[in-house]
Amino acid sequence: MRVEILGYTPNPEIVCALGAQTSYKEEDPSLRLEKMTIEKARKTLKRVMSYGHVSVIEHANFNILFEGVSSIFHQFLIEHRLASYTIRSKRYVDFSNIKQVVPEFFEDKPKLKKKYKELMDLLLSTYRTIVQKGIRVEEARFVLPYCMEDNIVCTMNARELLHLLYACLYGHGKKYPEIFKIGNKLWKQLKEISPIIFDNILIIEKGKDEKEKQLRKLVTKINKKTSDKKVQLLYYTENADDKVARIALMKHSQSEIDDLLKKNKEKIIEIVTNNRRARELENVSFTFKINGLSLGTLTHLTRHRIHNLVTPYFTEYDLNKEFLIPKGIKNDEEMYKLVKDVIKKWREYIKFFKQNDIPENTLPYLYLQGNVIDVITTMDARELYHFFNLRCCERAHWEIREIAINLLKRVRKVAPLIFKKAGPSCYYWGYCIEGDVKPESCNIVEIKKRFSAM
Ligand SMILES: Cc1cc2nc3c(=O)[nH]c(=O)nc-3n(C[C@H](O)[C@H](O)[C@H](O)COP(=O)(O)OP(=O)(O)OC[C@H]3O[C@@H](n4cnc5c(N)ncnc54)[C@H](O)[C@@H]3O)c2cc1C
Repeated sequence: MRVEILGYTPNPEIVCALGAQTSYKEEDPSLRLEKMTIEKARKTLKRVMSYGHVSVIEHANFNILFEGVSSIFHQFLIEHRLASYTIRSKRYVDFSNIKQVVPEFFEDKPKLKKKYKELMDLLLSTYRTIVQKGIRVEEARFVLPYCMEDNIVCTMNARELLHLLYACLYGHGKKYPEIFKIGNKLWKQLKEISPIIFDNILIIEKGKDEKEKQLRKLVTKINKKTSDKKVQLLYYTENADDKVARIALMKHSQSEIDDLLKKNKEKIIEIVTNNRRARELENVSFTFKINGLSLGTLTHLTRHRIHNLVTPYFTEYDLNKEFLIPKGIKNDEEMYKLVKDVIKKWREYIKFFKQNDIPENTLPYLYLQGNVIDVITTMDARELYHFFNLRCCERAHWEIREIAINLLKRVRKVAPLIFKKAGPSCYYWGYCIEGDVKPESCNIVEIKKRFSAM
């Protein structure tokens, strides 16, 4: 595992202190910059941060490489939304020769470690067999475990980094030795760059962290039976069409709104949804429950940053539920049988490890990308437009595409005018924006027909 700061804002403390002083000094920042020293900058930052005005440290950005980290860490990391990520894709890269992270628990237990290795060999050889059969890696990946090594390039500002460090060292990441270790490696490097910002995690990160424990105490019956529906629209802004049109008009006039709405609602919403800065759409939101989402696709959903995703903790994923076997495998009788057999064996391994007291911080490393969970998310209509643009597209992975289309059908029922133009980018823009990666099978005329008739 490698954790390395690749680059960062030059003179981060000076830049942040200059930012802080800009709010209360009359003198122009360019003049103050000439007189600024590192000592003065640290003094200013210390004082301003002690008031709880931490936004000033968002001016310092860090580019970080996480290499050879598990998918557990990967998922934990990308749940931090105020950041940018690029990740080695399991849809495009063949993982046949990629290694796995070995959880610390196995290190001094040779017998269990051997069994773990055995399971890894079984899963990897199954993956290779599927790939060699000519099935796409994006389908084969469903049998990959959550401990496969991932590579991530991440950019985060100092404030979000403090949240991340807190989560790694004191929060829900702490119980995973890998995450704790990564947090420490990162912390050490960051403190060398800026002790004044990064030495004070606990002063800045205030508040209780007991929510899940307290909630779990209240629950007497754990009933994990979920709906058969893949997507449920739980809550939404009522009369969203009306609200968006009304808000759009309010910017221009406080009178005549009712009259204008009666005659022009459709036109007003068309004007808004055709505009690149459709901020009015952010005023209406939709809460969904997505049932039986594979862990492999959870990462695709989590990568969208402008929504409020609530997922169960790794330790609460329910492994008894169905395993998602992709169509690409189901369509091949031999591979379908192979995968079903492997899942059966995998369940036996899980049973064995549980009988041998595998701790709850280690079990998730054995989860498979095809294991499923239920999640809840709330998106506003503007983010939904973007989500549909990307995820209803033929280039998106089929599982998230099916979810996106399902979501679109639901929201079109309750806000038909707002979502009339929502769909893949070709439907919205009138042409494909994917350029030379547009799938050959993609028939834009057909797609446009399908989405207008939906
Ligand atoms: C077909 C396909 C293939 C993909 N392949 C890969 C891959 O191989 N590897 C990989 O790592 N990812 C991949 N992704 C994920 C992709 O890179 C995005 O991370 C993901 O789709 C989220 O979309 P987004 O970043 O456009 O917007 P969101 O995160 O949904 O945010 C919405 C909008 O808000 C703005 N925004 C949000 N955060 C920021 C920010 N920090 N700075 C500036 N603007 C911001 C942007 O305008 C953005 O479009 C793929 C996605 C698709 C659809």
